[in-house]
Amino acid sequence: MSSQPRTSLRDATEQERSLLAAFHAYIETLWGRRDAEASAELASDRITGFGAGLDDRVYSPERALELFARDVAEVPEPILFQIRNSRAVALTDEVGLVMAEADWQLRTQGQTVALRFIRISLILQQQTGDWKVVHKHLSQPRTAHGPGESYPLQEIEDRTQVLERIVRERTDALESAQRRLERLAITDTMTGLFNRAKIDSVLSDEVRRRERSVQPLAVVLMNVDHFKHINDRHGHLAGDEVLRELAHLLIERTRQSDRQGRWSGEEFLLVCPETDAAGAGILAESLRVAVAEHQFSIGEPITVSFGVTDYQPADVPERLVDRAHQAMCRAKRNGRNRVEQG
Ligand code: GH3
Ligand code: MG
Repeated sequence: MSSQPRTSLRDATEQERSLLAAFHAYIETLWGRRDAEASAELASDRITGFGAGLDDRVYSPERALELFARDVAEVPEPILFQIRNSRAVALTDEVGLVMAEADWQLRTQGQTVALRFIRISLILQQQTGDWKVVHKHLSQPRTAHGPGESYPLQEIEDRTQVLERIVRERTDALESAQRRLERLAITDTMTGLFNRAKIDSVLSDEVRRRERSVQPLAVVLMNVDHFKHINDRHGHLAGDEVLRELAHLLIERTRQSDRQGRWSGEEFLLVCPETDAAGAGILAESLRVAVAEHQFSIGEPITVSFGVTDYQPADVPERLVDRAHQAMCRAKRNGRNRVEQG
């Protein structure tokens, strides 16, 4: 079988629909019915990246079944789950990616545990006319800045490795799919901005560059005010739309050299090279006004709070972001809808 890059948009949409159907069938079998044998049949016999980063890589169906049995023993009762924001990307005729978020409610050790915003990504490959899962990855985003934050990068590496494996096993036409996947891997799919892993690495690069030059470097952290109320009043999907509208404003109103990323749920980070704290303060103030005056789709005004700081000698990226975070928290304490310098 040869692998052709795709040609028409219509085909892509149909394929993406069939990828989504395969994704939902797999998730329902795995989490809903908790049927190990049936879910193994929906997976390739060389699935990788099993579990939530804590498990071994799995290359055999036997090992997958073993881990599944262990999961079921730990969580014997059904998992209640809800899938949000599922997106399929047809990379070639025979390889596709599906990304989604899930909320879980499960019972383990006599406790009910709720987990939200679990990220799932599956790579599926056509095998004998059906989509089979060749790679699976689950992760839970954290707001804390800790060792777990290297995790999105692990996910990106894993995906790249899977595609490399498929490329080796099949044909060179998949190489453009790999490039596309690499682009997707640095993008926050909801807003189109850089994701956390990418904006983290942009900041590290800029700090390194700053150490060798005299140019200033500023960061701006923006957090939505009372976003929880927006979700509560208008629903989560309307909340998502607000985040997209804010991302759009950030792109429209910042310089080309500025880099914009989604830092966590409703928090955005701007990395502004060749900008000092005063310049970043002016930028943040103009964004604050633009957001406050913007007509959002939910039909009511929204405000945002900012923490601004710039590079000081011997700063590491974490310390810069921490200062911006402290300043943002001060902006919240001082009444929100304001900019504070850190
Ligand atoms: P504050 O002004 O102090 O920042 O209040 P807040 O309500 O914005 O802050 P809090 O941290 O209490 O709540 C943030 C909310 O953002 C909770 C969470 O459900 C929501 N959220 C996080 N990520 C997303 C997302 O991707 N989509 C939507 N719709 N909501 C999200
Ligand atoms: Mg907030």
